[in-house]
Amino acid sequence: MFVILKSDVENREIEKFLTGLKKTYNADARLVVKNDKKIIVIFENNLKIDVGLLKSFDFVDYIDDSGELMGLVSRFFKSDDTMISIGNKIVGEGNFCVISGPCSVESEQQIYAIAKRIKMAGCGLLRGGAFKPRTSPYSFQGLRRRGIELLLEVKRAIGLCVVSELTDLKYLDLFSDIDVIQVGARNMQNFEMLRQLGRCDKPIILKRGISNTIREWLLSAEYILSGGNDNVILCERGIRTYEPLTRNTLDISAIPMVKKISHLPIIIDPSHATGRKWMVAPLSKAAVVAGADGVMIEVHNSPSRALSDGKQSLDLDEFDNLMKNIKALVKFSKKII
Ligand code: PEP
Ligand code: MN
Repeated sequence: MFVILKSDVENREIEKFLTGLKKTYNADARLVVKNDKKIIVIFENNLKIDVGLLKSFDFVDYIDDSGELMGLVSRFFKSDDTMISIGNKIVGEGNFCVISGPCSVESEQQIYAIAKRIKMAGCGLLRGGAFKPRTSPYSFQGLRRRGIELLLEVKRAIGLCVVSELTDLKYLDLFSDIDVIQVGARNMQNFEMLRQLGRCDKPIILKRGISNTIREWLLSAEYILSGGNDNVILCERGIRTYEPLTRNTLDISAIPMVKKISHLPIIIDPSHATGRKWMVAPLSKAAVVAGADGVMIEVHNSPSRALSDGKQSLDLDEFDNLMKNIKALVKFSKKII
């Protein structure tokens, strides 16, 4: 529930109001200031809040408990675009972020070979899965702890920011030097994980769930923001439809829709969206034109030998080419980071 306060409300009135909420309802409530609006966010836990009573305070403008406002992720709370710092790079307005790397970190030789080339091509963010959420328990599950160690070695040696997927909160400590934590499609509604990630200030890439609506996706981001972490990048990675020729269906329309509703940056992942490497370039270009803030692309030094997702991975030369195409497209409006 959101209690929108009048602009001339005094701090002591807010404090008294919060104390009253705690005393009367044992409510978990906090003040959020966005766009010069002062809003009290109340996390409802079976509370029978007397809305009429809250409305009767002079300094309360109005109350929204309809869910329509979507919350802190929405432009209602913050009209200007959110910019997110990753190392010395800023994701958001004015920049186009390219994240690339293998589906899985497989070996020292593999990750170094890829990292060097993507950096040379002008890409500053390396992705690589260490803990892999695989459909079959018999498929390669990732190098796990060793995968994270390799990413951190590469980060130091080559000077790239690194992105990796957290599949379970029990591994969170291993991610302290990872620059961006990815929440994968399968964990988009792991609410305990989202709540916990709201308590850190690390940038989070939140992928859209395989069968989730945009509203559900934004509400998952709301779990992170409402915990105090505003650094969320949304990633559209294709949704499941009746179309069998692609792995998923890339919902390009999510880009303008998210941009309209939310101030958070949105990137797209054409690799997982299609499962086909030859579709990665056209859809990356479509993402630029549709107004996305970036792309995440799977790249491998030897796709035919990849331990996961080789069919959708570009080889190093193909990635070079794609970077040239993206650079040409974004040249007039944005800067590649
Ligand atoms: C990935 O990026 O490696 C991945 C598993 O993606 P998704 O969660 O979108 O399937
Ligand atoms: Mn993959």
